[in-house]
Amino acid sequence: MNETVDVLAVGAHPDDVELGCGGLLATLSRRGLRTAILDLTRGEAGTRGTPETRASEAAEAARTLGVSFRDGLDLGDGNLRTDRAAELDVIEVVRRRRPRLVVAPLPDDRHPDHVRAGRLVTDATFYAGLRALETGLPPHRPQQVVYYPSAYLAAPSFLVDVSGALETKVAAIRAYRSQFFDPASKEPSTFISSPLFLEAILARARAYGLLANVAAAEAFVAPRPPLLADPLAAFEGFEPGF
Ligand SMILES: [Zn+2]
Repeated sequence: MNETVDVLAVGAHPDDVELGCGGLLATLSRRGLRTAILDLTRGEAGTRGTPETRASEAAEAARTLGVSFRDGLDLGDGNLRTDRAAELDVIEVVRRRRPRLVVAPLPDDRHPDHVRAGRLVTDATFYAGLRALETGLPPHRPQQVVYYPSAYLAAPSFLVDVSGALETKVAAIRAYRSQFFDPASKEPSTFISSPLFLEAILARARAYGLLANVAAAEAFVAPRPPLLADPLAAFEGFEPGF
C-alpha cells in the first residue's frame, strides 16, 4: 500500500473533504491525476450515524469522486490530538503517499478539530521532509499545503473551476446518508442535517463561480500566492473592476 499520489486531501472528519474540496478532487481525478483522502478521525463523536455507517459512506463517497485511496487515522473526534505521536502518524502517510500538493482544512473555523487539523497537517508536512527524522520511509516534502474553508467564509487566494464536477461533488456528499438531510431519518437534527446546509454548499460554489465567470468554483487559501504560467488565461472571462 505504498502507492503514491499527486494530491492528498485531508479532513478532520469523514465528509470534510467532500464538502471542502470534493469538486477539486473529482476534477483532477477525471483529468488522470492520482488523488487520495486522509481522514484524521473516524467521526465517532458525530450526533448521527455510527463509525461503521460513516466508514461505508466514506468509501462510497471516495469511489464517487474517483480518488485512488482513502486512508484513515484515529486521532480522536471531538478532541483531535496534535501531539508528537499524531504528527508521526500524518508524517507516515505523507511519506507513503508522496503527494505534490496537500489540501487541508483552513485552521480558522467554527470546529476546533478543523483548526487543529489544519495546523497538524501543516507541521507534519514540513517535518516529513526532514532527513534526520528516520521512520523507515524516505523523507518527502510536498510543494505546498493549501486550505479549504469549512463553516466560515474566507477570502480565497485562488479559485478552482469545478463546473464540470459539481454534480459529482453533490453525489459524494449525498453518500453520507446518515449525516445530511434525510426526511425519513429519526436521528436528532444537527448543523449539517438541515436541508438548507446542502443548499448553502451549492450557493457557495455558485457565488465563488460568479467571481470567475464560471458555473461553480471552490475557494482555497494559500500561504503564498500561486505562480501563474499564463495570466491571460487565468483571467479569461473576467471583467475589470475592484
Ligand atoms: Zn469536520
